[in-house]
Amino acid sequence: MATGFFWDERCFWHAGGNYAGMLPVGGLVQPLDGGLPESPETKRRLKNLIEVTGLARDLAMRGAEMASREDLLRVHPAHYLDRFKALSDAGGGELGRRTPFGPGGYEIAALSAGLAKAALFAVLQGDLDTAYALSRPPGHHCLPDYPNGFCLLNNIGIAVEAARAAGLARRFAVLDWDVHHGNGTEAVFYDRADVLTLSIHQDRNYPMDTGGVADRGTGAGLGYNRNVPLPPGTGHKGYLAAMERLVLPAIRDFAPDVLIIACGYDAAAIDPLGRMLATADTFAMMTRQVMDLSRDICGGRLVMVHEGGYSETYVPFCGHAVLQEMSGSTVYAADPFDQVFPLRQPDARFDAYLDEVLSDLIAQQEKTRPARARPS
Ligand code: ZN
Repeated sequence: MATGFFWDERCFWHAGGNYAGMLPVGGLVQPLDGGLPESPETKRRLKNLIEVTGLARDLAMRGAEMASREDLLRVHPAHYLDRFKALSDAGGGELGRRTPFGPGGYEIAALSAGLAKAALFAVLQGDLDTAYALSRPPGHHCLPDYPNGFCLLNNIGIAVEAARAAGLARRFAVLDWDVHHGNGTEAVFYDRADVLTLSIHQDRNYPMDTGGVADRGTGAGLGYNRNVPLPPGTGHKGYLAAMERLVLPAIRDFAPDVLIIACGYDAAAIDPLGRMLATADTFAMMTRQVMDLSRDICGGRLVMVHEGGYSETYVPFCGHAVLQEMSGSTVYAADPFDQVFPLRQPDARFDAYLDEVLSDLIAQQEKTRPARARPS
């Protein structure tokens, strides 16, 4: 038994054409260098780094099949898939908001979802202890019929629904720690009581109008969606506190069969699309938190699916820290910013403010705390 690492070179070939990210500058925007901020390099360099350090030798390196049309149809309507496939066959284009893709984009997105599905299946079938899917394009922003934020298919939603259809699990918890709100995954499961969705994100970064604490699900799903919007500038201590105080207790109460992490690295202290101060050690510590929790409540069944993270320099080191922690390997990649990021953390005044923010979020979430799960 081991930790699996699911990847495919073709996922690095997903292309964003001439798209450019933008930085606001007063009333103007300055294009970011290098085209689509969601570039292959962050992910490819993570895979390269684990090979160079030797961590890859302590992981089960795997590939996967594309998710099938049947798999995709459990989350996305046929008209959406047909439009996506036709545009992809015609050479690519733009399907929604911030979702450009090139030739073969449909197949690459289905492969990205397939990596998430294979990782989840391997853990649920007892073939691996834990698994990491280096999915690209990412998935957590994609609604059933509305792609956005570089996401074309909802990878985790597709994986969860495939696992349920195969009878591998009944209760799923999805924790999204990407700096942006997991609006797509929230939408897919918003009325469902069997999938707990939690998103911890920078308040009103992207999308600007979703991710509020009042959005707690609807109908049978009321209480089974949790948003933890954090103020810009939240750092190492703040993330771990938010996990301890809000996130982990909610997952423990829910008692899932498996815990899935939408693992983005854009809450890191360098990221063009985030304004937070997490470090590689923050991601390692959060991984330890969810490892410990999953051992307590769901037999250690833990799956991570790669989402955002836009620093080509830093994402590989954050990912390495996560994978080392998941696998229990002794192969370590020293964080090149270890001498400086711990010094650039919020001051005591911010910590006190964040403490109040967290208390306020807890008070608001208590209003719709769902009944404790029945043992099944
Ligand atoms: Zn993100």
